[in-house]
Amino acid sequence: MDTQTTQETKRVLLAAPRGYCAGVDRAVVTVEKALELYGAPVYVRKEIVHNKHVVDTLRRRGAVFVEETDEVPEGATVIFSAHGVAPIVHEEAKARSLKSIDATCPLVTKVHREAVRFADDDYDILLIGHEGHEEVVGTAGEAPEHVILVDGPEGVKDVEVRDPEKVVWLSQTTLSVDETMETVRLLREKFPSLQDPPSDDICYATQNRQLAVKQMAPELDLMLVVGSRNSSNSVRLVEVALEHGARDGYLVDYAAELQDEWFEGVETVGVSSGASVPEILVRDVLDDLAARGYLDVDVFTAAEEKMLFQLPGELRRDLRASGMDDTSTEIRHDAGALP
Ligand code: SF4
Repeated sequence: MDTQTTQETKRVLLAAPRGYCAGVDRAVVTVEKALELYGAPVYVRKEIVHNKHVVDTLRRRGAVFVEETDEVPEGATVIFSAHGVAPIVHEEAKARSLKSIDATCPLVTKVHREAVRFADDDYDILLIGHEGHEEVVGTAGEAPEHVILVDGPEGVKDVEVRDPEKVVWLSQTTLSVDETMETVRLLREKFPSLQDPPSDDICYATQNRQLAVKQMAPELDLMLVVGSRNSSNSVRLVEVALEHGARDGYLVDYAAELQDEWFEGVETVGVSSGASVPEILVRDVLDDLAARGYLDVDVFTAAEEKMLFQLPGELRRDLRASGMDDTSTEIRHDAGALP
């Protein structure tokens, strides 16, 4: 144990909301129910959600994760991940006679529809997002002739459009709210007629998780975010904490990754988790912190969440036909409670 802090001063601020969002819950339950209904193997294109623990658990239950549809045997069932796919992927699946179930988060689908609509009106669409991220690839694929990717504020200087009077911006759902607003400010300096999206593209879950971390950050010596490195919203939470006053911060997949040296002189530890992280992994981190003397845990609530999505229509139909429960996902934890 370090010598600079005592048991009495050590405490944890646990962010709420944290962890599973409605889109991730729906996608994971889609794979679970598909396995129950059709039996293993069920193929999943890309990681169903960006979390190592979730993917490994589903793999053990019979899900087979592939990169592309041509790895799926003809006629088999394939599930598309929460991040969404370009229309060409649906066409490829059809050409291989695959039974496809689309677990794209409805809030990602909303952005796809916006892209199609603005492309139909012949706008140039400035899509703010991370190059190569699956969601961005999927959204751009809806209107490849119209979409120009803007990867953060530093990407603005290279953007060129056909008609500066007909430009709109859209975004990936899991970006940093503050950084995106800065990108938009710079884009608007360059293109004063830039139109806003019809509604926020950065989703409620991303915004709420960032809000909680932002509000907690000034009190924190150390911020721990549970999440995987390929999870955009999880990575953003560490950045937001550091930008808003946390002295130090790390992203960990598992409690076992916590390092003793991170805790030197640390009194207050903040804990949150990305939108694809099951609560059990947060519990493990809290147990580890308790063993280090951080026994006093206060929940820091920034927002309430009640969002729930129905399962994909094609799966619901099959579940009903088999007499199985086709109801939607369940709220797996009360975002304001201790795990
Ligand atoms: S993070 Fe947002 S957009 Fe992504 S799956 Fe969750 S609710 Fe949907």
